[in-house]
Amino acid sequence: MADLSPRLLPRIDPVHSYRQQPIGPVRENDAMPAPLITIAEARKRVLDAAQPLGTERVAIADAHDRVLAADVTATGDVPPFPCSAMDGYAVIDGAAGRILTVVGESRAGTPSATALADGGAIRISTGGAIPDGATAVIAQENVEARDGSIVTQTDVAAGDHVRGAGEDMRSGETVLRAGMTLGAAELGAAVSAGAAELTVYRRPRVQVLATGDELRAPGEPLGPGEIHNSNGPMLDALADAEGALVGTAQRLPDDRAATVAGLASALDAADVVIVSGGVSVGPHDHVKPALAGLGVEEVFWRVALQPGKPTWFGRRGNVLVFGLPGNPVSAVVTFSLFVRPALAALQGRTEEPLLEPEAVLGAAVRRNPDREQAVRVRLERRNGKLVATPNGPQGSHIVTSLLGADALAFIPAGEGELEAGAAVALERLPR
Ligand code: AMP
Ligand code: MG
Repeated sequence: MADLSPRLLPRIDPVHSYRQQPIGPVRENDAMPAPLITIAEARKRVLDAAQPLGTERVAIADAHDRVLAADVTATGDVPPFPCSAMDGYAVIDGAAGRILTVVGESRAGTPSATALADGGAIRISTGGAIPDGATAVIAQENVEARDGSIVTQTDVAAGDHVRGAGEDMRSGETVLRAGMTLGAAELGAAVSAGAAELTVYRRPRVQVLATGDELRAPGEPLGPGEIHNSNGPMLDALADAEGALVGTAQRLPDDRAATVAGLASALDAADVVIVSGGVSVGPHDHVKPALAGLGVEEVFWRVALQPGKPTWFGRRGNVLVFGLPGNPVSAVVTFSLFVRPALAALQGRTEEPLLEPEAVLGAAVRRNPDREQAVRVRLERRNGKLVATPNGPQGSHIVTSLLGADALAFIPAGEGELEAGAAVALERLPR
């Protein structure tokens, strides 16, 4: 993961130095909260705000996993010339039993200087250009080689073992479309098509800020009431996996001035700011008022989702800001549902739908009367059916429920239970 922290953010003082400040009233948090919106509506508002960033040209060697921003067309035929699919002899088609004089050789990269005439054969390697006059290739295992000549042992038809020019790509043909993610196959096709550089979307710069007086760095000994900051590294990894340029996550104490300072630097340096924690309605939740003071316009707050109800989203110009709940499972689920699609859209990435977007529940799940649930599930095939089984206890603090989870399954809001065997929609869970 790229460490961009010095460029993205000045170092923020350790959490402790802010501890002694008095707690003032947080009036902005006292207002009547807006009604919950659905996951679909929240995602629509995120995608409306996430327009593709600019583009840049990169060498093929630097283009892996980037998103193509301009179609790639073949600059010539591929293969560029008719060539042999076998090691053998270029010949004129004809019956078995002919004695042909070997008059030259066509190797890959070095075509034969001589053309072929009746009664002749030219030694040829796989990839060697078909010499003028030849109509086919006979494989070397189908001839008897003598001194300076061969005896054909099979009939040869015109075109045998010949790869035609343009069989793979035709000159001018569109080979890759904008929006594709460049994997190994796409890079190979781009090179074959004649490209040396590709136009790709810029990678979004992401800064994660983990709020909470209780947070300690990985491995740091814990004092009373303290926990380790698991969200910082998790959110960094998730953003990195989505193609973002990620600055190392910073910690912010639950203090207004420090929250404002940390957010201000992040807003100036990043395309996407992800804040974890501090977006609920407690007296120490400073994120929303701090963002309001910095001119970040709220697009929504609170989604009818479990886990992830306090999710906040806003923007300042083209900078997108996500306030994710502090509970680690909520942070991962809301990243998956809202931040991931935004990072994809900023890079112009067209989403690959899941091969199987539906499964049947492997065990009953109690519904939430007001909120849709995104349950971490394991997937397995039983009697031809894809079965989604909740991956252990689903509390929003149970990080281990993310281990080995294959997908999110959605349980609509309602009374009672959704019974085992019921159909559920699936979405991929990023890793
Ligand atoms: P908050 O959203 O700030 O109210 O936090 C909700 C819960 O998540 C609390 O139990 C926090 O201690 C916990 N939490 C907040 N931030 C983190 C973090 N970065 N890593 C792990 N747990 C966190
Ligand atoms: Mg907190």
